[in-house]
Amino acid sequence: MTENPYHIYSVWLKEHYGEKVYKIPINIPVSCPNRDGTKGAGGCIYCGAKGGGNETLSGLLSVSEQLERNIAYIGKRYHAKKFIAYFQSFSNTYCDFSDFCKWIREAIRPDVVEISISTRPDCITDEQLKFLETIKNEQAIEITIELGLQTVNEETLKIINRGHTLADYQQAMGRIKEASLLSCTHMILDLPWDDKEDVYNGAVMLSQQGSDFVKCHSLYIEKNTLLQEWYEQKKVTLLTKDEYIDRAILFLEYLDPQIVIQRLIGRAPKEDSVITNWNTSWWKIKDELEARMKQENNYQGSKFSGMNKMR
Ligand code: SF4
Repeated sequence: MTENPYHIYSVWLKEHYGEKVYKIPINIPVSCPNRDGTKGAGGCIYCGAKGGGNETLSGLLSVSEQLERNIAYIGKRYHAKKFIAYFQSFSNTYCDFSDFCKWIREAIRPDVVEISISTRPDCITDEQLKFLETIKNEQAIEITIELGLQTVNEETLKIINRGHTLADYQQAMGRIKEASLLSCTHMILDLPWDDKEDVYNGAVMLSQQGSDFVKCHSLYIEKNTLLQEWYEQKKVTLLTKDEYIDRAILFLEYLDPQIVIQRLIGRAPKEDSVITNWNTSWWKIKDELEARMKQENNYQGSKFSGMNKMR
């Protein structure tokens, strides 16, 4: 562990790829089985119109065009030479296998060192995993599968209408590992239906499953979501910023120090949200959290024993 209180993603990227690497978000015409009635209707209660992708170009452009445009801009602006092609919005494995293969192949370029694919734990086929394993080996490229989980509490999974179980996540993680791909797990640390025990259990579960990366964020309210309705009807009360920081520190304490933290606090565009991060900049919250950890001489994995059990 460096002087950072947790395993910082930018440091890992530099160590792994030898230089700074930039993520290029890609938009493809997919939806989500939890929105169209296949797994569930209406989607997760917090899911906004963009399905978690906020900085993408139009899905009407081909994958190669989106990469070309963004790499030309970012490469010039930041003198960047290596990139991650990031299939970000909705469930990027929810499509025909032939389309999936075509889009992934289009993302392969000499300056793309990794392909990252965001999806649901119950929405990835063996055929897709086999294909990705072949691409990884043929092209000597890293491939990461990002899975939304958000909580390990089964009751909360139902309340937020995730439409999958914890077992779905565990099975998906096992299959991703078998295919020798990297994995990233998304967690919301301040779900009001979860308590601190659930946050602890989340850290233990991700450590046991060997998630390579984790992305955390607070529960923000996007416009035109069921969560917005519940919030306005006072059916849900959000936790405070201090409570979020407490939970994030607890989560980090019990998390395997090998797991790389891609994000500790997220953000949603102002124009799409009713309330995000207590109307505070995400970086101020991150600074506050880091300052507290340093002050308390605390760090990721300080209570991780390798033998922690879920309670
Ligand atoms: S799984 Fe993702 S895209 Fe689908 S409804 Fe939930 S948040 Fe939205």
